[in-house]
Amino acid sequence: MKKMKTDKIEVKNTIVEIDGDEMARVMWKMVKDKLLLPHLDMKLEYYDLGLKMRDETEDKITIEAANAIKRHGLGVKCATITPNKERMKEYNLKQEWKSPNGTIRAILDGTVFRSPILTKNIQPAVRNWKKPIIIGRHAYGDVYKNQEISVPGPGKGELIFTPAAGGSPIRLTIHEFTGSGILQGIHNTDKSIRSFATSCFIYALDQKVDLWFSSKDTISKTYDARFREIFQEEYERNWKKKFDDSGIVYFFTLIDDAVARIIKSEGGVLWACKNYDGDVMSDMLGSVYGSLAMMTSVLVSPEGSFEYEAAHGTVQKHYYKHLKGEKTSSNPIAIIFAWTGCLKKRGELDKTPDVVEFAKKLEQACIETVESGIVTGDLTKVATPSPNNKQVYTEGLIDAVAARLKKI
Ligand code: NAP
Ligand code: MG
Repeated sequence: MKKMKTDKIEVKNTIVEIDGDEMARVMWKMVKDKLLLPHLDMKLEYYDLGLKMRDETEDKITIEAANAIKRHGLGVKCATITPNKERMKEYNLKQEWKSPNGTIRAILDGTVFRSPILTKNIQPAVRNWKKPIIIGRHAYGDVYKNQEISVPGPGKGELIFTPAAGGSPIRLTIHEFTGSGILQGIHNTDKSIRSFATSCFIYALDQKVDLWFSSKDTISKTYDARFREIFQEEYERNWKKKFDDSGIVYFFTLIDDAVARIIKSEGGVLWACKNYDGDVMSDMLGSVYGSLAMMTSVLVSPEGSFEYEAAHGTVQKHYYKHLKGEKTSSNPIAIIFAWTGCLKKRGELDKTPDVVEFAKKLEQACIETVESGIVTGDLTKVATPSPNNKQVYTEGLIDAVAARLKKI
C-alpha cells in the first residue's frame, strides 16, 4: 500500500526535545498538541527532564540530553525545577540534584542570551527602545566563584599565585589592614572567556545585530583588560570579515558608557556582559520590557549548538492552582517562541524555507493575538488600556493563536 502523503510540513532533521516540570510542562504539551503537531511532521528525540525522571535516572538523563544537543546541534527545552530542601521533601528525592540548566551549560560550554518579545501594546518603560536588546551573560567565574575572608583585625592581605611548574610564586599585597575589614579573591580563565566571546560572535551574526562588549579596563588593567584583549583577538582573527559582510559591527566600550548608551539607543544590539553585569542587567531588562513571560532565552555553544528556552521558570504557584482543578492564566508565549526559534534555526540549517516560514507565521499569530487585546493575566497589568483587552486562560490564548495562524 502506498503511504498517504500528509499535508504537514516536513521538518527534515532531528530536534532534541527536553521536557520539564509543573505549569511549564502543562503549557508545553498544549503548545505541541494545538500549535505544532497539527502542522508539522517532526523528528523529535525526546528527553524527559521532569524531576521524577531525573531522580529515577540519578540525573543521567540530563547528561544524555546535553550530549544529544551536542550531537544534533539543536534543542528546545522546557523549564525544570532546580531542587532545594523543600523540593527534596515534595518529590521524595534521593539527592538534591544540580540545576539541569547548569549541567547542560557546562557540557556545552555555552553562553545564555536573553531577549524580549515585543508587541505594540506593551510599551517598554524606556520609551525609545523599539527593538529587542539581547543580553549575553558570561556565566563563569568572577564573584560567583570567589573566596572571601572576613578580616578580624590588623594584618596583610595578599594575592599569591604558585606556578604548578615550579619557580617562585607571584605575590602582591592587596592591603595592609590596620583594623577589621573584608577581602576577596576572584578568577577567570582564558579558555572560558574565549568560549564566551565565540558564542557572542556566533549569535550576533546569527541575529544580524551589532555586538557590544563592556568591561572596566581603565580600572582593572589586567583582569578586565584580559577580557577586552580576548574579544579583540577573536574578532580580528575569525569574525571581522563576516561582520563586515553582514553590515554589523563589534565594538568595545566601558561598562558605565555602555549603560548610558543603551538607555539612549533604540535597541537592536547584543550586549555581551561580564558575569555580574549580566546578572544585574538581564533583570533590569526583563522588567523594562514588561513581563518575564515575554522573555526568551537561548544557549549557544562555541561549537555552534543552540538550545532554545523560555526565560521563565516552571511557574510553580500557577501549577498548584492547576492541580486543584482551577484554570490558570499562565502565559505560554515564551514557550511558543522557544519552539519557533528552534524551528527557524532547524529550517535554516536544513535549507527548508517552508519550516522557517511556518515558524515566522506562528510568531506573527502570537503577536497579533496579543495586539488584538487577547492576553493572559501577567499582561493585563502592563498592556496599554483598551476596551478590546480581554484576559483569557492559557488554553484560551493558545486557541486564539491557533485560529489566527489559520488565517495568516
Ligand atoms: P518562575 O517560574 O519564573 O515564576 C515566577 C513568577 O513570575 C510567577 O509566580 C508568576 O508570577 C510570574 N511568571 C513566570 N512565568 C510566567 C508565565 N509564563 N505566565 C504568567 N506568569 C509568569 O520562577 P520561580 O517561581 O522563582 O521558580 C519556580 C521553579 O522554576 C523553581 O523550582 C525553579 O527552580 C524553576 N526555574 C527554572 C528555570 C529554567 O528551567 N529555565 C528558570 C527559573 C526557575 P505570579 O505568581 O505573580 O502570577
Ligand atoms: Mg539575577
